[in-house]
Amino acid sequence: METLAIVGASLAGLSAARAARARGFAGRLVIIGDEQHRPYDRPPLSKDFLLGDSVPTNYPAPGA
Ligand SMILES: Cc1cc2nc3c(=O)[nH]c(=O)nc-3n(C[C@H](O)[C@H](O)[C@H](O)COP(=O)(O)OP(=O)(O)OC[C@H]3O[C@@H](n4cnc5c(N)ncnc54)[C@H](O)[C@@H]3O)c2cc1C
Repeated sequence: METLAIVGASLAGLSAARAARARGFAGRLVIIGDEQHRPYDRPPLSKDFLLGDSVPTNYPAPGA
C-alpha cells in the first residue's frame, strides 16, 4: 500500500490530505505535527472561545 506523509497537521496539511483523498488517493495517510494535541480549527477558536461562547473541543480541524 502506498503511504503519503504530510508534514504539518494544521490547515495546509489537512487541506493537502483532503485534496489527496478527493483525487482518489486510497493509500495510507500519515500527518505529522509538532502539537501535543489533535488538530483544531483555529479561526472559530479565536472568534467564539475567547468571547466565552464555546469550548475548544468544539473545533476539531475538518477531517481530524
Ligand atoms: C488561535 C488562532 C486563531 C486564528 N484565527 C484566524 C482567523 O480568524 N482567520 C485567519 O485567517 N487566520 C487565523 N489564524 C491563523 C491561521 O490559523 C493560520 O494562518 C493557519 O493555521 C496556517 O496554517 P498552516 O497549515 O499553513 O500553518 P500552521 O497552522 O502554522 O501549521 C504548521 C504545522 O506544521 C507543524 N510543524 C511545524 N514544525 C514542525 C516540525 N519541525 N516537525 C513536525 N511538524 C512541524 C506544526 O505542528 C503544525 O501542525 C488563527 C491562528 C490561531 C493560532
